[in-house]
Amino acid sequence: MIPFVDLKRQYENHKAEIDEAIGRTISNTDFVGGSQVTEFEQSFAKLLDVNFCVSVGNGTDAIYIALKMLGIGVGDEVITVANSWIASSETITQTGAKVVFADIEPEQYTIDPVDVEAKISPKTKAVVVVHLHGNVADMDALTSICRSRGLYLIEDCAQAHLSEYKGKCVGTFGDAGTFSFYPSKNLGAYGHAGAVVTNNSDLAQRIRTYSNHGALNKYDHVVEGINSRLDSIQAAVLNVKIKYIEHWNEQRRKIAKRYSGLLSKVNQIQLPVERTDCKHTYHLYVIRCLERREELRSYLEDRGIQTALHYPTILPLLPAYGYLNYCGTDFPIAFEYQHQILSLPMFPEMRDDEVISVSEAIVDFYDSTRS
Ligand SMILES: *Cc1c(COP(=O)(O)O)cnc(C)c1O
Repeated sequence: MIPFVDLKRQYENHKAEIDEAIGRTISNTDFVGGSQVTEFEQSFAKLLDVNFCVSVGNGTDAIYIALKMLGIGVGDEVITVANSWIASSETITQTGAKVVFADIEPEQYTIDPVDVEAKISPKTKAVVVVHLHGNVADMDALTSICRSRGLYLIEDCAQAHLSEYKGKCVGTFGDAGTFSFYPSKNLGAYGHAGAVVTNNSDLAQRIRTYSNHGALNKYDHVVEGINSRLDSIQAAVLNVKIKYIEHWNEQRRKIAKRYSGLLSKVNQIQLPVERTDCKHTYHLYVIRCLERREELRSYLEDRGIQTALHYPTILPLLPAYGYLNYCGTDFPIAFEYQHQILSLPMFPEMRDDEVISVSEAIVDFYDSTRS
């Protein structure tokens, strides 16, 4: 059996260190905030080469709080991508703004700058870009659109810790970059955790205040806020794991390269394409099956190989967005790909024999069923 992800292997490799860090945090009776949290915020900001990192409860809150603190609200429109996790769009609605979806680029599967430009209206205030699968969006085009139209730019980096665009980490291009440290992300805690990074000190301060009940110091509530703070135990786990994130990303890149080599002759699939001058961190290795995806999926399942779909239904077509009355042809590329994409097993501890087995099974499937 080859799992889609196996978090146990990583824990086993670092068990002593992680257990010690968790134990120490509990002994200090640090549970919310404290030195572990400060240490993590500083290390993460340094790693990304950004001025401020404010930790929050999870990656969804990170997007919501960033939008809200940029002043997005009722009467505004915010553009995001049709193919993402619902956190990218539900947070826009949470602020009171209207979500407007844009299609994806055919090779990269990230938001299409041309369609973003086409969707801009006088009400548009911001664009939420998603660096999907660990691949990076076209930041030159997107920053230039946002700058010239006076729009805020938020980067949802939940799947792209340390992915790079022309030598610079994603999350540092726009007004704010948001991260999730959900357990299965490239850098994952042992529960919920998230952060916002920014070079804007005023914005960082407002985010910190809002996420802490509107107070910087206890009982000094300057505004009404929410409760979205990082648990100390999660920070302790992250402080151990942050030392390995670069190595883990390299492992993911090696596995991706191996897959791409082993699958290069299969004409019925399209392999992931890394944008020029960029560093893809392969949170997911997503192929596109030009034929018989469902059959391939059950063929792999019968051989004990787990796969997944990211995502089975594009956001605009989910029942949650029925009120927007979209149809598939409004997002021709994302809609076509929804029926073709397949995420293969991918995690840093995946063994070479497993990568070979998955690849061989895919080759065998298309060989044996050639029409
Ligand atoms: C995981 C994820 C989020 C949200 O993260 P949580 O920490 O689970 O709230 C947001 N956007 C994308 C693209 C994600 O993959």
